[in-house]
Amino acid sequence: MKPAIADGHVVTLHYRLTLDDGSIADESFGGDPLTYLHGAHNIVPGLERQLTGKNAGDKCDVVVPSREGYGDYDPAADQTVPRTAFPPNVDLQVGMSFQTRTRSGQQIPVWVRNIKDDQITVSANHPLAGQQLNFHVEVVDVRRATAEEKKHGHVHGPGGHHH
Ligand code: ZN
Repeated sequence: MKPAIADGHVVTLHYRLTLDDGSIADESFGGDPLTYLHGAHNIVPGLERQLTGKNAGDKCDVVVPSREGYGDYDPAADQTVPRTAFPPNVDLQVGMSFQTRTRSGQQIPVWVRNIKDDQITVSANHPLAGQQLNFHVEVVDVRRATAEEKKHGHVHGPGGHHH
């Protein structure tokens, strides 16, 4: 008998992530399922919390508010800069991501949110910040993690780390 989903278990599932505008942001159906270590913060907290206790074969819909997903949208984390702030050979496109350096010298990941004429808006918000996440989940498999997986905080083997 397979265990129910709990901390320290390896979960394999298929999911579809739909945003409130009806668009599909991500899904595993049609491809490889997602395999993760439950309780190790490998997935967004609200999804992890609500999957606790589910079993292999379960199908469910899980609604995750932004604060338990990718966080609230922070307008101060968006910045609009002139095109001339970028190297001239860079072909800027909405959605492209890169590293930037803050005034204090810290490297942070940002992405291009908007391009209007020669004004470029770059964002340090997660692309899904401020969004409610609507997951449809089908639990494929649940197994106990090995001691090594627990120590590393991630899954080994198919769908996981190979090292
Ligand atoms: Zn490992």
